[in-house]
Amino acid sequence: MTDRLSANLAHLKASETVAISTEAKRRKAAGEDVLDLGVGEPDFDTPYAATEAGVQAIRDGKTRYPPNIGIAELRKAIAGNLSGLSAGRAVDPDAIVVSSGSKQSLFNACFSLFGPKDKVLIPMPAWVSYPQIVHLSRAEPVMVPGDVEWSLKVSVNDLERHTDKLVRGLILCSPCNPTGAVYTLTELKAIATWAQKHDIWIIADEIYRRINYGPGAAPSFLDLPDDLLGRTVVITGASKAYAMTGWRIGAALAPPYLAKAMAALQSHTTTGANHPAQWAAATAFSTPGVEDDVVHMVAAFRRRRDRLVARFRGEVPGIEFVDPVGAFYLFFRVDGIVPRTPVTGQAFCEQLMQREGVALVPGGAFGDDRWVRLSYAVSEKDLDGALDRIFRFIGSLASSRAA
Ligand code: PMP
Ligand code: GLU
Repeated sequence: MTDRLSANLAHLKASETVAISTEAKRRKAAGEDVLDLGVGEPDFDTPYAATEAGVQAIRDGKTRYPPNIGIAELRKAIAGNLSGLSAGRAVDPDAIVVSSGSKQSLFNACFSLFGPKDKVLIPMPAWVSYPQIVHLSRAEPVMVPGDVEWSLKVSVNDLERHTDKLVRGLILCSPCNPTGAVYTLTELKAIATWAQKHDIWIIADEIYRRINYGPGAAPSFLDLPDDLLGRTVVITGASKAYAMTGWRIGAALAPPYLAKAMAALQSHTTTGANHPAQWAAATAFSTPGVEDDVVHMVAAFRRRRDRLVARFRGEVPGIEFVDPVGAFYLFFRVDGIVPRTPVTGQAFCEQLMQREGVALVPGGAFGDDRWVRLSYAVSEKDLDGALDRIFRFIGSLASSRAA
């Protein structure tokens, strides 16, 4: 017996965002003074009504296997929610598959659509799991660098440059993890039109759609006409908007034949998402009182974002960052902190943790190690404390290297 693993895992690396969060939690538990701005997880409690619905579901005996594709009440609630966010457009609940977090929805979509010899475009920087999920599907991720003059977003020209006849898909995240950039509706429409021309699938990861600092929810592919969406899968979930990361509920809206395939796939992997959690999420997606909680949470994220941007501009004016207009991340550049001595995101984060006890994620996890990601889904007090430490560290780094 050797300990050789299957070729399925040839490219497998554990999630760096999850690993950093685990390490920060370990240090905290060991009594260290650690501020964790690494993980992208809302610091709020799940809205009360959703929690109650979950508890009630357990009491009511909703503890047996759920329908594999998701309970009808949740699929209807998600359809109603997506419809409401996109000016009442028709959304078919039967085209929605509920999964164990949107991570599984993304996996189901990629595994069902892509395979050996297929290529999938991924704008870079990209959330850690996209290339991994594409590799697990035995397809090849093709990273498309975003334009630094344009909040690291990609244009149709950028996509076109990386497209050949093997390209079958594009994974687009807006609002974007890790940059906080948001694609405008005009940009989404241009991309959808381009994808349609090439017969390329769009996997639209819209998990952060509600966390948007422009008016209302962020622009969505669902704001486009149906005839542009024949090959589009929209990913949503309860984790971010409803502070429900631990409940593990995500969903995909897909053309019916694909939804059917994804449901069949998960009938062999998970038998559907956690049953009581689905009831909690159904309440979250459909209850006006929970909507008030979302508005409240987004307002809090906005205040933190404003504070963070003001402090970066005022206290470290030389540090470049992507203007954060959605999600809860700030992506800032560290390579130029000291002239002629490039600093990597990895070295920056390691030393910052050692010297100041602040966890951030190196940009290398997202494909570009000249940058670092900061999650401001933490209390204002922790955010201010962490910024004091980060700025002190940047100051000391600059003067020690320059000396
Ligand atoms: N997509 C993006 C861009 C994310 O940041 C996350 C966060 N984990 C996910 C998907 C998956 O979220 P979940 O599985 O908790 O729904
Ligand atoms: N999406 C969050 C992040 O990027 C949670 C961790 C993960 O699932 O990657 O930090």
